[in-house]
Amino acid sequence: LGNYLNTVMNQETANSSIGPRRKVGILGGGQLGLMLCQAAIDWDLDTYILDQSKDYPAAGICKHFTEGNFRDYNDVMSFGKELDLITIEIEDVSLEALYDLEKMGKTIHPKPSALATIKDKTLQKKYYKDKHIPTAPFIVFEDKQALISFLENNSEWLPCIWKNALGGYDGKGVKKITSLEEAMLLPDVKCLIEELVDIDKEIAVIAARNANGDIRCFDTVEMDFHPQANLVEYLISPSSVNDIQKATAKQIAVELIDSLDICGLLAVEMFLTKDNEILVNEVAPRPHNSGHHTIEAAFTSQFQQHLRGILNLPLGDTTAKYCSIMVNLLGEEGHSGPVQYEGAGEVLSIAGVYLHFYGKSETKPVRKMGHATILSDNMDDAKSKASKVKSLLKVISV
Ligand code: ADP
Repeated sequence: LGNYLNTVMNQETANSSIGPRRKVGILGGGQLGLMLCQAAIDWDLDTYILDQSKDYPAAGICKHFTEGNFRDYNDVMSFGKELDLITIEIEDVSLEALYDLEKMGKTIHPKPSALATIKDKTLQKKYYKDKHIPTAPFIVFEDKQALISFLENNSEWLPCIWKNALGGYDGKGVKKITSLEEAMLLPDVKCLIEELVDIDKEIAVIAARNANGDIRCFDTVEMDFHPQANLVEYLISPSSVNDIQKATAKQIAVELIDSLDICGLLAVEMFLTKDNEILVNEVAPRPHNSGHHTIEAAFTSQFQQHLRGILNLPLGDTTAKYCSIMVNLLGEEGHSGPVQYEGAGEVLSIAGVYLHFYGKSETKPVRKMGHATILSDNMDDAKSKASKVKSLLKVISV
């Protein structure tokens, strides 16, 4: 009995503590993995990353790097079986392996069942419908033929937004369809079409939850998109939407993180329509581009908050200390090759500007190469500094 109690106590201490014996496995070694490891270093956590190349952003900063494919069942199994706790920085991972690791008693956050719902956009949308979460009307199709046959007889659905059920990222699996001819050019995949929303603003709330069920949300943010790349160009925090709209957005985020039973972060992207409705666009159960400003602008960063959530620690204070604007630093058009950050020196002379380069050796057009966060005590000042940063700083090739 003594030994048994010792074991139980050791496990409990391990489960509620931080430090070098707390192993955290992360599937994916991109910039989100990098910034998660930066937060983990402060707490002396033992970080393990699985990704395909030692050249990826997080490889140089994690404590242990395993070369492998997070989409491959065997690679994820052999990586995960040595760990107690596994999280993700990307949704497109081997779900089968995560289900099997969960059966072996490993703690996986987000839970594979939640990830299954989120990974497939058709299941995600059905989930909102079942839970009466407001979202744009949609129809699911098993393949392209089913979509074409539908549109032939229901042309009132055009124009609409087409979404690939799987694998879409940063707008790449999303397309506005205005005619049957355009639909004919789409890939033959399981997909959905969605009513074209008359968007006033695109907003997001990042919620966090721990295993005790505590929930906290960061401020509602507002996103401005790069017109061609469909990537967030400016992220404004706090959003200019009114207090009722902010409260509604937070309420939706809380409801979703709770009902999906997620520990760690859930980023909820929403549309504020011109009719003043808030509709959920999509969610991501991990750190998110719309939370990068929290590193400097909030009392707790989204990355530390994710660690708190998955380790079942008390959630941190999400209050913002400043107004902030986050600018994604994208590879310039016409530049492919070894990266160079032009204008960084000039930008650093502006007060309140924080630069984050992700350490990707090669740039290419519109690749996310870093971000800049601009802090100020007023939004007008932050905006004028953000536009200076944007015009001065260019990610080019040597
Ligand atoms: P991704 O997963 O690639 O980020 P999203 O589902 O977020 O794809 O869509 C990318 C962008 O496409 C959104 O930010 C929005 O600007 C636009 N979009 C998506 N769905 C709709 C819709 N139903 N109506 C209008 N625009 C939409």
